[in-house]
Amino acid sequence: MSEKVKTEGALRQEKLSYKKQNYYEQASEKERKEIFDYAEGCKDFLNYCKTEREACAYAVKAAIEKGFTEYKFGDTLKSGDKRYFVNRGKSVVLFRIGSKNLEEDGLRIIASHIDAPRIDVKQNPLYEEAGMCFLKTHYYGGIKKYQWTATPLALHGTVILKDGTQRDICVGEDETDPVFYINDLLPHLGADQMAKSGGKVIEGEQLNVVVGGLPYEDKEIKDKIKLNVLTILNENYGMVEEDFLSAELCVVPAFRTRDIGFDRALFASYGHDDRICAYPAMTAVLDNESEHTVITMLVDKEEIGSEGTTGMQSQVYEDIMEEISLAMGANFRKVRMASKCLSSDVTAAYDPNFPEVFEKMNAAMISCGTCMSKFTGARGKGGSNDASAEFVGEIRKMFNENGVIWQTAELGKVDIGGGGTVAKFTAKLNIDTVDLGVPVISMHSPYELVSKADLYSTYKAFLAFMK
Ligand code: MN
Ligand code: MN
Repeated sequence: MSEKVKTEGALRQEKLSYKKQNYYEQASEKERKEIFDYAEGCKDFLNYCKTEREACAYAVKAAIEKGFTEYKFGDTLKSGDKRYFVNRGKSVVLFRIGSKNLEEDGLRIIASHIDAPRIDVKQNPLYEEAGMCFLKTHYYGGIKKYQWTATPLALHGTVILKDGTQRDICVGEDETDPVFYINDLLPHLGADQMAKSGGKVIEGEQLNVVVGGLPYEDKEIKDKIKLNVLTILNENYGMVEEDFLSAELCVVPAFRTRDIGFDRALFASYGHDDRICAYPAMTAVLDNESEHTVITMLVDKEEIGSEGTTGMQSQVYEDIMEEISLAMGANFRKVRMASKCLSSDVTAAYDPNFPEVFEKMNAAMISCGTCMSKFTGARGKGGSNDASAEFVGEIRKMFNENGVIWQTAELGKVDIGGGGTVAKFTAKLNIDTVDLGVPVISMHSPYELVSKADLYSTYKAFLAFMK
């Protein structure tokens, strides 16, 4: 069969013009299979890890299975070492010491966050009213509150009892478990509610979670349903009501990760932001050796500003990098100067249902590969790490030489909104940093949508970065 002869103009256009590529369209049958297979491991991770604590525990277990050993400040290190560092059970750093000179080659850092928007239980939460027992809550991160009503919810977290004993709670994930629930108003009585603006349709103090309805058998007392719930908590976890004061209980969607569509190209999950990037960040360093010294940081609290001892702004991450430099006899300032970081966080995928908020030429297209954002921020790039052309050029070369299908994007039209990542915190340390991650549909909703191709492309990008 003869191919149609291309005109001079068509050839010139091919040579000079830039066009995004759909990864599925480019992938061979073998690679399509790799894309699908890789997503299976990620689905397991997402099903198990619905809080930062669970993601941290999962990463530690996976690291130990791969022969990584725990690192403590002051430990000696040598080329070939594989170590993990756990920060208060809520963030984890995985690293491999390479053979290259640290002062000249620096560290190759991948930073992702393992917390996700959710609903946290208040410190004094339990009450009963109108035949039901509830937990009062205070939401965590940027959520559309109305999305969390009338949907199955699970409770994950930790309670520190009066005597200091720690009890982990996870209810709503097993098929035989009960789930929890936030009420919504029936449309028949919802006329006034539906006339409100979206942010007020359900308000913060209405996010009360139903946890019971069975009264304790004693005619003499009030709050019988609450007492019955307290009795169950006491029998199962040794808790009394005061123990809520020292608890971190998180209300998260109870559903599991599922393939989406007849062809299974996409898949949905709670917590894709940012665990869909944390998973490839974790497997890249666990499964692959490198001549470089590579570090994956899985951090907490990104959704509330990277604050606290476990967020990216904590001194601990700089301390680890400094300790590694010291142990390898390298000058930390020189190491930072030579280091490179991929801040791996999700970005918004172009959604044809909402074209008005995107500028199509500079929007992430689903299945067109992992997405680099030179800058984030809002209103004139405000608050963003704007990576240099030189650094973007270097990463671009790495990806192209290693056959990574990738794209670039901004988060929405200029002045429509914006967002931030941990990029600016690593950049502040004098480490060249750029954002790279999986495009997501319905970001920050209870059930977010991504492409398996973009997940695998992100993994391949990390391998190219480590190579
Ligand atoms: Mn994120
Ligand atoms: Mn987010």
